Amino acid sequence: MKRKLLIILFFIFLMNEIGFCWGEQGHRWILMEAIDLLPQEIKKYYKSLESELLNKVMDPDMRKGADNNNEAANHYINPELYVSFGFSIDTVPWRESEVLKKVSAEKMNEYGVLPFAIKKTYMKLVEALKKSDTQAIIVYAADLAHYVGDAHQPLHLTENFNGQLTGNLNIHFRFENDLVLEYLNKVPAPAKKELQKIKDIDKYCWEHIKKISKFVPAIIQADNAGVAVSKIYDDKYFRVLWNNTKDIFQAVFINGAYALSEYYYTAYLTAFPTPQNKKTKSTKTADKSKISTTKNKTLKK
Ligand SMILES: [Zn+2]
Repeated sequence: MKRKLLIILFFIFLMNEIGFCWGEQGHRWILMEAIDLLPQEIKKYYKSLESELLNKVMDPDMRKGADNNNEAANHYINPELYVSFGFSIDTVPWRESEVLKKVSAEKMNEYGVLPFAIKKTYMKLVEALKKSDTQAIIVYAADLAHYVGDAHQPLHLTENFNGQLTGNLNIHFRFENDLVLEYLNKVPAPAKKELQKIKDIDKYCWEHIKKISKFVPAIIQADNAGVAVSKIYDDKYFRVLWNNTKDIFQAVFINGAYALSEYYYTAYLTAFPTPQNKKTKSTKTADKSKISTTKNKTLKK
């Protein structure tokens, strides 16, 4: 009996340590919408891999906790913890090498390395595309989708990730699982827009983290408002949580899709730098001729 209890407690501990992430539905939504936003020819390529990417988009979660691979640190960052090293979220250097001049690798793993994981995965995707290594492309494109999704969950970007510092325990799960299951269908598909080729990947990663992490206080307040109406997290509570966070909820999903789309777009243009692809912006006329036919052929599955 005691052993059973210990096992249950161990799994609860494990869930708290490694179980956080948008539910599968959330990650899949961002991935599918991101592919949909791509210019026609590039979209056609990623679309051909979509079902495999969808199957693999949760793989980074599966790797957490395995063989001391530090995978868990790839899924979050607690920028507030950098304060003791003289940084704030606005002043943490964008480049990992710069951070490592002041913070040990061990501390960095403790604080989370999500933006650096995005950068590394992006670079691996570019390499895989250059080699037309379809299996590697699938692995890194799926990993990238997962990490970019996590970077758009505000509670992955704060020390107060589970409301434990403000008396809002388990808000993480309520926001990223319960709300997703009930309300993700209310998020409209992102409007098509001109995608930008990312000029500085390190900077781009951090710009998202800064923007999305600013939503944390509002989520905490919304949780307080919900609890004020019902302390048992029933429909009444979730209606208040939704009404108070729906703009944030929609913004993080839509921005997550745009960001992933621009990573995919930039990776492709970087791997295949035809004269047209060197342009920093996509245009409707350039989209169709953007990728050379030879390159396209090499990438067909
Ligand atoms: Zn994750």
